[in-house]
Amino acid sequence: MLISVDDIVFRTIDAASHDLRKLSLSIHDNPELALNETHACKAITDYLKSRGFKVEHSVAGLQTAFVASYVSPAGAYGGLRIGFCSEYDALPGLGHACGHNLIAISGIAMFLAISAVLDACRIPGTVRLFGTPAEENVGGKIIMQKAGVFDGSDLLMIMHPTIGYSGTWHSQCCQKMSVEYFGKASHSAAAPWDGINAGTAASLAQIAMGATREQLRPDWRANSIITTGGEAANIIPEYSRIECIIRASWAKDLRVLEQRTLDIFRSAALATGCTHKVTTEFAYLDNQDNPVLGKMYEGIMREKYKVPPTFGQGASTDFGNLSQSFISLHGNYDLAGTGAPNHTSKFAHDARTEKAHENTLFAAKTSARVAARCVVDGVFWEQVKKAHADRLND
Ligand SMILES: [Zn+2]
Ligand SMILES: [Zn+2]
Repeated sequence: MLISVDDIVFRTIDAASHDLRKLSLSIHDNPELALNETHACKAITDYLKSRGFKVEHSVAGLQTAFVASYVSPAGAYGGLRIGFCSEYDALPGLGHACGHNLIAISGIAMFLAISAVLDACRIPGTVRLFGTPAEENVGGKIIMQKAGVFDGSDLLMIMHPTIGYSGTWHSQCCQKMSVEYFGKASHSAAAPWDGINAGTAASLAQIAMGATREQLRPDWRANSIITTGGEAANIIPEYSRIECIIRASWAKDLRVLEQRTLDIFRSAALATGCTHKVTTEFAYLDNQDNPVLGKMYEGIMREKYKVPPTFGQGASTDFGNLSQSFISLHGNYDLAGTGAPNHTSKFAHDARTEKAHENTLFAAKTSARVAARCVVDGVFWEQVKKAHADRLND
């Protein structure tokens, strides 16, 4: 009997379903914040090792990052290097309200499926599963990318539960910044002229941010709060701090907005005589979808769900940074059909349901079928590469 590549994908993922469900629940029941996902990381890597895969721990200097790999019995030479990402960090106070317990198992499912395809078809190639911590905060993938962990990848994929589905999703760029102002304390009534008011610097920066907001493009955001503004009204504040997040649809716009924000921070320091220090975190860049991969994914999802894909734009992901350099698919799928938005307690509840598990495995099979087609259909793969090159030249 001849088995199709799709059948290998279905059978492999169905056979792992029970183990994946156990892993997903174990991660959900033990929510861990960015870079502290030791339980999740151990549970996943123990499972992969029990199935005979090679696992490299603590990659890029991150204790909870790993890379599992599989080389086809036909060898690596001349084949594609395909990578899948698992996430497993939770949100403070809300647990797995972004469903990263499911992103963990969808990554494993796709990894197992494509390893099985290479094995059964004796096609050369390499499959890697990247355990990528700290998506909600810090940006684990960005640190791993800078360390060269993803180097050599021909194709990278990740899944994410949300409302509706899409394979051609363009996320927002997002960057966290903070500024500290350093002045000089003095008695507000006895000798205010001896002080340098860091609280005033923070207020001026806030006012300038507000005034600038009128001139920002509709898709740009600049949100800021004063986290420290002074300690007592009878002391001229010697220290203040602002936390701010800027967003834009495109990386080049984010750079403009960043520059404007830096100018504002500097001008408030100048106006008050304070010194200042800006801390800028890694920017999460926009997700550059590949229309050929995305359309195939959406086609299969549409057949099942009988509704068109969603075209929402909000939210940001550190996978966006990978999509700027690598051919990639960020497949979104509907969590459990309840309409609960990400980052809510209802979403966390739904991420534990049997329905969410079913939807996750269906979406993982869909993405794995797209990946398998890249492996077995040279014409399709050429179209994928051309779409990527066209996007880069836009
Ligand atoms: Zn999230
Ligand atoms: Zn998420």
